[in-house]
Amino acid sequence: MNIYADNAATTKMSRVAIDTMTEYMEKTFGNPSSLYTIGQKAKEALEEARADVAAVIGAQPRDILFTSGGSEADNQALRTAAKIGAKKGKKHIISTAFEHHAILHTLNKLEEEGFEVTLLPVHENGLVVPSELEDAIREDTCLVTVMFANNEIGTIQPIKEIGEICRKHGVLFHTDAVQAVGHVPIDVDELNIDMLSASGHKFHGPKGVGFFYVRKGIPVANLIEGGAQERGKRAGTENVPGIMALAAALKEAAAGMAETSEYVKARRDRLIAGLSEIPHCALNGDGEKRLPSNVNFCFEGIEGESLLLLLDQKGICASSGSACTSGSLDPSHVLLAIGRVHDVAHGSLRLSLGEDITDEEVDYIVDSVSEIVEYLRSFSPIWRDLKEGKAEHIL
Ligand SMILES: *Cc1c(COP(=O)(O)O)cnc(C)c1O
Repeated sequence: MNIYADNAATTKMSRVAIDTMTEYMEKTFGNPSSLYTIGQKAKEALEEARADVAAVIGAQPRDILFTSGGSEADNQALRTAAKIGAKKGKKHIISTAFEHHAILHTLNKLEEEGFEVTLLPVHENGLVVPSELEDAIREDTCLVTVMFANNEIGTIQPIKEIGEICRKHGVLFHTDAVQAVGHVPIDVDELNIDMLSASGHKFHGPKGVGFFYVRKGIPVANLIEGGAQERGKRAGTENVPGIMALAAALKEAAAGMAETSEYVKARRDRLIAGLSEIPHCALNGDGEKRLPSNVNFCFEGIEGESLLLLLDQKGICASSGSACTSGSLDPSHVLLAIGRVHDVAHGSLRLSLGEDITDEEVDYIVDSVSEIVEYLRSFSPIWRDLKEGKAEHIL
């Protein structure tokens, strides 16, 4: 069996996205700034795409800026708020300990530039507590940035409550919604979201293209200077094939969202139930308030990397929170943020399901993981210590 269960890392482009992309590479390939027909056709298409994307999140088309992806949108959102804050002498930002690195690393840069950052705890269930956010707001707070859904453990934050608190205190609210857009319903007005980041390749669109929603009236800070594209807020000839494909993928995802979500959620819960049978393991993140596709477990006495390599041999693509592959021996900052100790965090597994996952595939994953965990434990020194009572079980 071949099962791609790493959709939080990236998704396969949908048929409609590939076909749309090809059309705008082969046929309507003009530069939207050109005055002849093929350029103007590209421009019209681009504006249609903007309207389609806006409609999915309840925004106005003029409030959507296309970017090179989620990371760029995150950077632009933070730079926008920082610029506004600095002008008013407000240099305090509130975020969480388990944001994506596009947020955390930009916050580090802003700290070097004189901003102060408060990272809210996300607790054992991977959720921000709205009252703790309200308590953290100060006179000089210029931004709250809290991700919509976490990319590792899938927990969905109380975005509406957070938005209300920010509105009440007159603080800008940004959300990195890269994992949520196209997967869960979002209405920026209803949720009081001022700025939002999204990325095409997380909802079956292409890589290297995303969008930044910014509410009307907020003066956007440019990251890239040059031509007057994107209302002068993001220079560079528009990535028309990518943008068109992103919009096509998003439209399709939004149209089937309710049905897909219910279907995938049922398979997710089957997978969680199956994996929970393995001794000394635990689900990471709240069981209910999580993305329909996300399953994340820690298994005591194993290394996530070894598990991944053996799963690959069984045709299963998954991911682990431990970051040895990225040159660091530190386990995932997300798992540490929810209070997992180092040893336990190292034995993590993320399975992010696709919309076409079947019950048979879920059962095959459960059997494979159970078998591999038992095998890895059979020669793990940590597991031996646990069994011999030299160390205590945590899970
Ligand atoms: C993937 C991801 C990003 C980065 O998006 P890119 O388009 O790959 O730059 C940012 N935030 C979250 C939560 C993500 O999952």
